[in-house]
Amino acid sequence: MFKVLKYSKKSRARLGKLETAHGIVKTPFFMPIATRAAVKNLSSEELKNLGVQIILSNTYHLFLRPGLQVIKKAGGLHKFMHWDGPILTDSGGYQIFSLSKWRKVTDKGVEFRSEIDGSKIFLDPEKAIKIQKILGSDILMVLDECVGWPTKRNKVKKSVERTTEWAKRSKKIKLDRCLLFGIIQGGTYNDLREKSAKEIVSLGFDGYAIGGLTVGEPIEKTYKIVKFVEKYLPKDKPRYLMGVGKPEQILKAVKSGIDMFDCVIPTRNARHGLLYVKTAKNFVNYNKVKYQKLHIKNSQYKNDFKPLDKFCTCYTCKNYTRAYLRHLFLTNEPLALRLTTIHNLKFYLDLMKEIRKQIRNGLL
Ligand SMILES: [Zn+2]
Repeated sequence: MFKVLKYSKKSRARLGKLETAHGIVKTPFFMPIATRAAVKNLSSEELKNLGVQIILSNTYHLFLRPGLQVIKKAGGLHKFMHWDGPILTDSGGYQIFSLSKWRKVTDKGVEFRSEIDGSKIFLDPEKAIKIQKILGSDILMVLDECVGWPTKRNKVKKSVERTTEWAKRSKKIKLDRCLLFGIIQGGTYNDLREKSAKEIVSLGFDGYAIGGLTVGEPIEKTYKIVKFVEKYLPKDKPRYLMGVGKPEQILKAVKSGIDMFDCVIPTRNARHGLLYVKTAKNFVNYNKVKYQKLHIKNSQYKNDFKPLDKFCTCYTCKNYTRAYLRHLFLTNEPLALRLTTIHNLKFYLDLMKEIRKQIRNGLL
């Protein structure tokens, strides 16, 4: 299911392939976020044409709207959104812990209020998996308890214990062709991270995620925890650093042995006119991602008839100028969002492609 094709001699980086029910994904990879069964502003065909290998969709949002009955009737999430590539779904836990204004966590599960109609909903580890099965996801995540930063040690300890108990319960559910990933918690406490990693790994999942990071802690702490936890993860399983991140953070995490990433920033920044532009043709080396962030709304681009990024081969850069993109933004034309989302995603896909190339060539 997962095969490492090459281990770097320069770092902990690995080149690999992950086989799912909807195709093989080259690792390391980045997943664009299709929160509500759509990557904002793009169709599934546009994602495919861009070279997106796999997308992430949010169980919490889909469960609330359109609801499981609709997706079931559609024949699953793939058919519903006309995407035939792999899909990873989260458990819904992160959204409950970060979005819902009211929630009650017990060892049994978590109760929260729907943001749509205020009704009370109960989610437990078993239900989280059953929902993801109905969605027809290729990679399922277990329900975990995510705590913010900073959180007192006692509370983090309790969340680690609960996460392990919930992971045990999740493992008991029968699955067909999909992969189930465990999640390691423990905040920024090394001993709790070690405990969580050992317990979750001993349960034997198809892959392992490092959760509870980039929740407000300084980035140096994030890197330290990733390096620390990686030592406890089996080499022959994929590793997923949830919610990370910026190009330089991804490069650094790949060198620490991470294979999978997701983040809202390329698509969200695109919608704000904040665009990733390469500053060199070979824009990734061992130490650095050579890029700049361009604010397309700035007046300096008013008469700039160059492509957004001269090193980019995306539809936007091939066909449109900076001046035009700026004009679209200033006049609130919806096309602006589509063109910039295409470009920013292409930048991230190129980043991962370049990273894989550098590992293959023994440079990273
Ligand atoms: Zn482009």
